[in-house]
Amino acid sequence: MELKFKLTDYRTSVHNNWCPGCGDFGILSSIQQALYELQMDPSNVLIFSGIGCSGKTPHYINTYGFHTLHGRALPYAIGAKLARPDLEVIAVVGDGDGLGIGAGHFVNAGRRNVDFTVVIYDNEVYGLTKGQAAPTLKLGVQTKSLPKPNISQAVNPILLAYASGYTFIARGYAYDTNHLKELIKQAIQHRGSAVVDVLQPCPTYNDIHTKDWYAGKGNVDPKTGKEIPRIYKLENEGYNCVITNDMSEEEISKKIAQMIIKAYEWGDRIPVGVFYRDLRFDTFEERLEKRIPNYKAYPPGKQAISNREGYPIADISKIVQSLSV
Ligand code: SF4
Ligand code: MG
Repeated sequence: MELKFKLTDYRTSVHNNWCPGCGDFGILSSIQQALYELQMDPSNVLIFSGIGCSGKTPHYINTYGFHTLHGRALPYAIGAKLARPDLEVIAVVGDGDGLGIGAGHFVNAGRRNVDFTVVIYDNEVYGLTKGQAAPTLKLGVQTKSLPKPNISQAVNPILLAYASGYTFIARGYAYDTNHLKELIKQAIQHRGSAVVDVLQPCPTYNDIHTKDWYAGKGNVDPKTGKEIPRIYKLENEGYNCVITNDMSEEEISKKIAQMIIKAYEWGDRIPVGVFYRDLRFDTFEERLEKRIPNYKAYPPGKQAISNREGYPIADISKIVQSLSV
């Protein structure tokens, strides 16, 4: 059967100015592959970004793209999703952009469980502004731009996402595009707020957690003398953390405890895969529809607000009022 959309339909001809070898290329390619394999109509997909190297992503994907303000991709993305719940919405954020200045938006987006996807470009530095320590850089790590080792603790994106209420939480690796593409597909297909934290080497400014380091450099097995890759896949070790309505409190607690242990694992072994999937909660849109019965059939983005001459024909104050929570 001939597919309606080709992989090239998701590409643009905009010149890409990321540094050679940047992990961002792997993320870009994984998003394009995911959209292609899901055969999503490019005209039904909206991609939002903030500021930073990740902010350029919408330039390179042939969908609707919005390069917004530093830290603000999520409120724009959520606003668009609520105006047009029939469209697919993806927000791409950097670790500094999304978990520094945008941390408040990140937390509050999780509380709502809006049906959208957040992809975090996690390179532990502010790449676009010369490599300062970003919120995911671990305590004591000294990357090449830092005059002294990092003096602050790191944010753990997996645990912050869990504490905020995201109902799908995964971690991928930018250079394993097959695996990352599958995670992004699952995140898009999940009903609710989904986060994919992507370990993304920045060859220009992060000289500690490099592609070689993730591949096992210095991680020598004392028995064999060989280097062991640091990254491993949760699903290869029988890990599964799906929470459903029919589970007891005890079963849920056990699953969450297991997830927290995995989320803290870092160093010689670094897990990637789906950490958490919670199927117990309605999406924000479903909750809205209970208050506004025709919300999905006639959402704000489909309502005419002016006539052909440009004069207002609708009083939208009632809609705005009904959306307030
Ligand atoms: Fe990639 Fe780092 Fe260059 Fe930014 S500065 S494009 S994150 S390698
Ligand atoms: Mg960064």
